[in-house]
Amino acid sequence: MQDSNKEEVRLKGIPASAGIAQAKAFLLFKKELDIPTYQIEPEKIDEELSRFDEALLKTRQQITNIIADITESLGEDEAKIFDAHLLVLEDMALIGETQNMVRQTRYNVEHAFNQVSQKYIAFFNHIDDEYLKERVYDIKDVTRRVLGVLLGDGENTHFSKMYDQRILVAEDLSPSDTASLDFRILKGILTDSGSVTSHTAIIARSLRVPAIVSLHNATDHISADDDILIDGYEGLVIVNPTQATLEEYRAFQIKRESVDQIFSTEATAPALSLDDKKIPILLNIEGTNDIDSIRQLQPDGIGLFRTEGILLRDNRFVSEEEQYAQYSEVLEAADGKPVTFRTFDLGGDKVISTQNYREVNPFMGLRGIRYSLKYPDIFKTQLRAILRASVHGNTKIMYPMISGVNELQAANVLLQEVKNQLQDQGYSFDPEAISTGCMIEVPSAAATIDIITQECDFVSIGTNDLIQYLLAVDRVNDMISDLYEPCHPAVLRTLRDVTDSSHAQNVSVSVCGEMAGDPILATMLIGLGVDELSISPGLYAEIKYLVRHISVADAQRIAEESLGTGDAFRTYRILKQFYTDIFKGII
Ligand code: PEP
Ligand code: MG
Repeated sequence: MQDSNKEEVRLKGIPASAGIAQAKAFLLFKKELDIPTYQIEPEKIDEELSRFDEALLKTRQQITNIIADITESLGEDEAKIFDAHLLVLEDMALIGETQNMVRQTRYNVEHAFNQVSQKYIAFFNHIDDEYLKERVYDIKDVTRRVLGVLLGDGENTHFSKMYDQRILVAEDLSPSDTASLDFRILKGILTDSGSVTSHTAIIARSLRVPAIVSLHNATDHISADDDILIDGYEGLVIVNPTQATLEEYRAFQIKRESVDQIFSTEATAPALSLDDKKIPILLNIEGTNDIDSIRQLQPDGIGLFRTEGILLRDNRFVSEEEQYAQYSEVLEAADGKPVTFRTFDLGGDKVISTQNYREVNPFMGLRGIRYSLKYPDIFKTQLRAILRASVHGNTKIMYPMISGVNELQAANVLLQEVKNQLQDQGYSFDPEAISTGCMIEVPSAAATIDIITQECDFVSIGTNDLIQYLLAVDRVNDMISDLYEPCHPAVLRTLRDVTDSSHAQNVSVSVCGEMAGDPILATMLIGLGVDELSISPGLYAEIKYLVRHISVADAQRIAEESLGTGDAFRTYRILKQFYTDIFKGII
């Protein structure tokens, strides 16, 4: 495989999904289009101008389609934002000046259009008028779109161009990028940015595709078609590995496969600790793609169905009927075990193209339940689909990003409204059989847990967000990923308080954040008394093994000790030592 002319280079990042992978690189360029600049022959000017006309027409069609989509899902008012984009396409100053520039300077149309629109962007940026400043976004958006069309979407700006087995190398991947990846041909993922709790990492773990994030400059060091070896256990990327490196990793891979074999022999055994306590292990899923894992692992249920995954995959809102079909399929596959439907957690970095607004701090903005309450029609459509599907299995509904009891009450009012409506329409489902719960992932919800638990049946702690909000550490910002500390005493105390307070009200507590799937950290959660762990399919077998080889009494001792240190680093050392003792002789 190795090209002997190329030197082996090693890059270190954060391991996001375990495993070894080897394939050629596929480089994805996304952020900036590379605008070519060249001059054309005088007799080709008309041809150049018709290329421009065609691109404007094609862009108009793209925007018209988006408007139709939004009008259907969100209503006419929301679609109005795109009218401004259509106006940019008709702006005679912008278009006419570009045409003139092509005629006079004989520069290619991409260069001319880019120059002219940059001039307008700079002009509007300098005017002290909020309305005109807004136009900058419209012009930028339309310029990007027209240039994308002219350049045939640029080189490798979309994964659809990846046709054989490759390791994807990108600066960054948004949740909707990740959701649209074809994991049948994807052998690994490397990104310059990102963190272990970013959506890309979560999906990669769920699908057992090795991934390394936060590599900072992988896209500079790796060229298209370089041979790549990924060590997803250590976060190591080896570019153009030597023969000796390949042999070393072949031996390592054989060893790892035998470890996985040991875990998988107990994967479907009961989740009982050495002292005979049941610790249910549930799955986190994104959609019907995970049905094979549900059938294979036979978990105690689905503790987190990230329903927004359905929207991110298609980059659009999905009708009630389509949602109903997919929810029913998952309920059938769960075979009577509970399926926890988390209502759409849109916002933050999970946006689809129809959400055409910008937020300065999206993670603190219109996210999760806030989005659903602002757009009740979208929310009610989803609730209708879930309630109708509930006849196919054991259904639970959970709201994301609850920050206080008022949001929970408001969501429940809409839920009741939808239940009444469905009953009036003659749908047969049992409204009493559906329990409702909240994600506890915002510190204000944790601090008022005793009030919240009076109004719900269960809670599930979303440690991914809870840690980011508690410690003020953006979960997707690789520059501060060392500050994202699950063992921080503030995190441990919050987990303890939420668990104890919920139990005092007879409300069950699950953890569905990534902490639950980390074999070093899961022991502490068990020791703190959480009732269930909900984890990605790729981590399931190892956590099941852990649960079956520890006693709850030991886990409680470890949790006490951890709480006593008041120090993240010392806590981690205690937990790591415990993990090493349990897995001694295996790993
Ligand atoms: C969490 O925040 O821990 C969680 C499970 O939700 P998500 O990762 O989808 O934000
Ligand atoms: Mg969350």
